[in-house]
Amino acid sequence: MRLSRYFLPVLKETPSEAQIASHRLMLRAGMIKQQTAGIYSWLPLGFKVLRRIEQIVHEEQIRAGHIPMLMPTLQPADLWRESGRYDDYGEEMLRIRDRHGRDMLYGPTNEEMITDIFRAHVGSYKDLPLTLYHIQWKFRDEIRPRFGVMRGREFFMKDGYNFDLDYESAMHAYNRHMVSYLRSYERMGLQAIPMRADSGPIGGDDTHEFLVLADTGESEVFYDSAITDLRLGDREIDYDDWDEVAAICKEWTTPYARTDETHDAAQFDALPDERRKTSRGIEVGQIFYFGTKYSEPMGATVQDREGNKVAVHMGSHGIGVSRLVGAIIEANHDDKGIIWPEGVTPFHAGIVNLKQGDAEADAACEDLYAALVSAGLEPLYDDREERAGAKFATMDLVGVPWRITVGPRGMKNGVVELTSRRSGESEELAPELAVTRLK
Ligand code: ATP
Ligand code: MG
Ligand code: MG
Ligand code: MG
Repeated sequence: MRLSRYFLPVLKETPSEAQIASHRLMLRAGMIKQQTAGIYSWLPLGFKVLRRIEQIVHEEQIRAGHIPMLMPTLQPADLWRESGRYDDYGEEMLRIRDRHGRDMLYGPTNEEMITDIFRAHVGSYKDLPLTLYHIQWKFRDEIRPRFGVMRGREFFMKDGYNFDLDYESAMHAYNRHMVSYLRSYERMGLQAIPMRADSGPIGGDDTHEFLVLADTGESEVFYDSAITDLRLGDREIDYDDWDEVAAICKEWTTPYARTDETHDAAQFDALPDERRKTSRGIEVGQIFYFGTKYSEPMGATVQDREGNKVAVHMGSHGIGVSRLVGAIIEANHDDKGIIWPEGVTPFHAGIVNLKQGDAEADAACEDLYAALVSAGLEPLYDDREERAGAKFATMDLVGVPWRITVGPRGMKNGVVELTSRRSGESEELAPELAVTRLK
């Protein structure tokens, strides 16, 4: 992309309404525009990052054997009357009436709708196990929308639902979700720690939230520092192997990690001093086994091997796709701007032309641009007639992980300058070498 032809409305002033770094930086870098409280337009740069996160989530869900689909944002109230949640959900639900006087709502989540789809089409244990998911906009009329896209009212969420014949199979689905979530966050350059969460009135232990450590997080978290050393890395995972998947979950759930809701001071205090950590955390996902909570009242049953009609065991599993954009920035920025992890960056490298209009410098930038594109990378070329300082500041603000600076002085020696956004370190090298380095 050439900056002269792009739409990147960066702000010079720091917007006063933004209380935390990620919100400020998303506004300043021209990623989002607020339309009204908790509702945002995703401008081109923000949209690119949102799409990259969505893509990682898709890839990891499909790898785990889960099937993508798409449900609508608007739902009929009647489905929610069947589960009893139409009245329970309260003010967070945006209720709408259509021209025929029918009650509708903008979906805050999709348990009822997916259960309706299941009961319409599935009748036998032979069709199980089944996990369906979608990535769709949700609406929750949050009492205090804040921190930009972190707590929006309209937000983008992946929600998946498993249908299993029995508890054991449903727990394997739960474990698959935990592992595929860990992989997704890791690919985004984030550490999100699974923490035992409060399952509310349903009871049982079978829910975990995933929290990114950040001072601006809304939850208070307590954890054993040993958990922050764990990495999945590039290990091969066979999602059909129940024991293997369960072993990975065990690895991640053995060290103590809880939010204030489930915190157990006695267990925590038993840890050695230096491993006892307290911090704030941002919830970027949650997995939940809830058994027959919806399948029973809504009649989602199958015939089991003996021919009995049984209610299926279900769970629901969510990732906050739009919140992740903010969470990633909270964890990756400095006072100059965003520092994108390679896995989600909107552009792989920035090209800064120090002498726009100089035939030689322009040609060198064009060559670099073409070489990066043919290497499968997406460059952002600042080809505007601007001061070098302004160009550097823009690249730093939008967080491109590598900057290639092309100027007349370097060109005399046949070199360009390659600078890491994260470390700030620069090196001079031939343009071809810079491209090879980034591949
Ligand atoms: P929170 O505790 O932050 O209100 P939640 O527990 O109500 O979140 P879930 O129902 O677990 O949310 O939804 C799954 C994921 O969707 C959350 O883990 C979070 O990442 C994301 N999410 C929930 N509410 C919002 C929101 N208002 N804005 C952006 N993302 C959200
Ligand atoms: Mg909530
Ligand atoms: Mg929560
Ligand atoms: Mg939650």
